[in-house]
Amino acid sequence: MMQVLAQTSVMNLKGVGAALAEKLERLGIRTVQDLLFHLPRDYEDRSRLTPLDRLEVGRSVLVEGIVHSCEEVRGRRPSLAVRLTEGNRGLTLRFYHFYPQQKAHFPAGQRLRVFGEVRLGSSGVEMYHPEYKITRPGEPLPEATLTPLYPATDGLQQPKIRQLVSQALALVTPQSLPELLPPGVSPRFSLLDALQMVHRPPADTPREPLLMGLHPAQQRLAFEELAAHQVSLAQRRHHIRSQQAPALPRQTPLAAPFLQGLPFSLTGAQQRVWDEVADDLAKTRPMLRLVQGDVGAGKTVVAALAACHAVSGGWQTALMAPTEILAEQHFLNFKRWFESLGIAVAWLSGKQGVKDRRQSLEKVQSGEARIVVGTHALFQESVQFERLGLVIIDEQHRFGVDQRLALREKGLATGLSPHQLVMTATPIPRTLAMSAYGDLDTSIIDELPPNRTPVTTVALANTRREEVVERVRANCEQGRQAYWVCTLIDESEVLEAQAAEATFLELQERLPQQRLGLVHGRLKPAEKQAVMLEFKEGKLDLLVATTVIEVGVDVPNASLMIIENAERLGLSQLHQLRGRVGRGSTVSYCVLLYKPPLSAMGQERLTIMRSTTDGFLIAEKDLELRGPGEVLGTRQTGLVGFRVADLVRDGAMLPAAQKLARQLEQQAPEQAEALVRRWLPQAPRYSAV
Ligand code: ADP
Ligand code: MG
Repeated sequence: MMQVLAQTSVMNLKGVGAALAEKLERLGIRTVQDLLFHLPRDYEDRSRLTPLDRLEVGRSVLVEGIVHSCEEVRGRRPSLAVRLTEGNRGLTLRFYHFYPQQKAHFPAGQRLRVFGEVRLGSSGVEMYHPEYKITRPGEPLPEATLTPLYPATDGLQQPKIRQLVSQALALVTPQSLPELLPPGVSPRFSLLDALQMVHRPPADTPREPLLMGLHPAQQRLAFEELAAHQVSLAQRRHHIRSQQAPALPRQTPLAAPFLQGLPFSLTGAQQRVWDEVADDLAKTRPMLRLVQGDVGAGKTVVAALAACHAVSGGWQTALMAPTEILAEQHFLNFKRWFESLGIAVAWLSGKQGVKDRRQSLEKVQSGEARIVVGTHALFQESVQFERLGLVIIDEQHRFGVDQRLALREKGLATGLSPHQLVMTATPIPRTLAMSAYGDLDTSIIDELPPNRTPVTTVALANTRREEVVERVRANCEQGRQAYWVCTLIDESEVLEAQAAEATFLELQERLPQQRLGLVHGRLKPAEKQAVMLEFKEGKLDLLVATTVIEVGVDVPNASLMIIENAERLGLSQLHQLRGRVGRGSTVSYCVLLYKPPLSAMGQERLTIMRSTTDGFLIAEKDLELRGPGEVLGTRQTGLVGFRVADLVRDGAMLPAAQKLARQLEQQAPEQAEALVRRWLPQAPRYSAV
């Protein structure tokens, strides 16, 4: 009897009992369909023998040879070295973990078949801990197809997964695994052929395209996966938009006094985006809006205006930022702006003292505080709002989608769903935005406030540090301020703080006339705030800092920034850091110090930074160079979790995938739902609501 594989449990496969099913479940595999869509992450070629004179370092290959010798090598890391030869060519198999009797496996003259990765070792080409077995001349080759390597888990090895996938493939028919894309969308490969190809590529399949995910069969699956993601995003959007939100008056009496208090007037772009936001807020559907704008474009003011609408409509606003420093800065700004208008602003952070925190919580719950600013602490269960009507999230790329939704849930106590405003300072390339924020409407503040002079960027080898210190001195003597940013990549906050401390001491010695301050992530919030305030008030000339100042810090008189180890930072991060200068009307400079010699990647990054200050362009480049996980931050797990699709490689297919998703949703909702189940079995089910 033929079953639909989307509803057939893996328990129906031969050899799958409760224990194995539980392991499969860990990989997100419950049904036979899930298993079929558990796609290889790589391939090995055991379909042919590679002659010993054709070995390429870095490749995993199957070879044969005769044991020439086998000896124990003593020393710091003892190993067993087996010399394998074929004609006058040789290869050393090296075993660091071995047992004394293992030598008996390798008598001289024995023919072995070996599979492993070719490396360069002390004796020339070597393989470490290869698979090996005794063989005879002319023994048939083990595999007729390339061997897939699947994402695996503890206690569930490749051969077992392969065997299960083979069983599953044997069950596939057009009835048991229906085609979900409309006819004509993928003429070259049917779903069945594509799956067969991807799981069991014939031995002569060109390897390069396959390993790069560019084989037409993979591209066909990638397209289907992108479409599935788009449907899922649209479902989430519909789900949220089907809820009721508080309609906030289009005009707010708070706006005029708020704007009068600012020392500037809005730019055209700010005004336009505010209008868009105000339109959204006036509706009974929750706003879902992403405001993008380059560093320094003035997003905070737009956020504050949105808060004006919420407050005058009788609702609370929660403003969340990813780092303590940024949240603090928002808090101080909002407090300054709103307390003069008689509106209480509360502060919530994980690092806050117990008593302080309790007071804030009470103010939020009683409704005394109309605006709450904070970090992740705002998500916590103990935080209860009286009437949450607007959620503003700054620097969204550092939060996951789930967190965004979690905060929204806090408003549901009122029976209404809060409006959501998301702001990002890292401009997001279109393809990424379509995937990460496909459920949001987008506004772009595409104009910087007037009188900004673009930052001039230079890259200097750190051998010229002396000159740079002189430049800092000259800059400060003219009454301007400077940042000196110490960075370490992949190091702990502790090490970074130590590096900053060391640099601080060194610079203090070399610049005795200047007033120096130091901030890093290990300081207490109050200490950090005190130093930042001194810098802001011009009581310090030079601020030595770690990347904690990456976002949000706003000191217009600072016109010089030195960034150490710049070659190791991502472009977006450099752009964020650089955005701390060039905020006033003086000409500003950014000096990227690097450690020579520069790698090709390092060189490319620095060249891009020198040649443009356009955040969107930089983000595109960053995406190309580093991939979406890095650009958006690893917390965007949903994105990094694509099975075949790759946003950089396949980004060009996104518009078509989105179009198809919309079409399916409208014309064939059941198919659309089946598509989501197929590719995102773990995604929450919105369609049921
Ligand atoms: P970002 O978009 O990076 O969050 P901010 O909101 O921090 O930018 O604004 C950067 C700086 O520009 C702040 O000092 C802010 O007061 C100032 N600013 C914002 N809007 C304007 C404007 N229309 N004219 C002049 N300065 C402005
Ligand atoms: Mg900002």
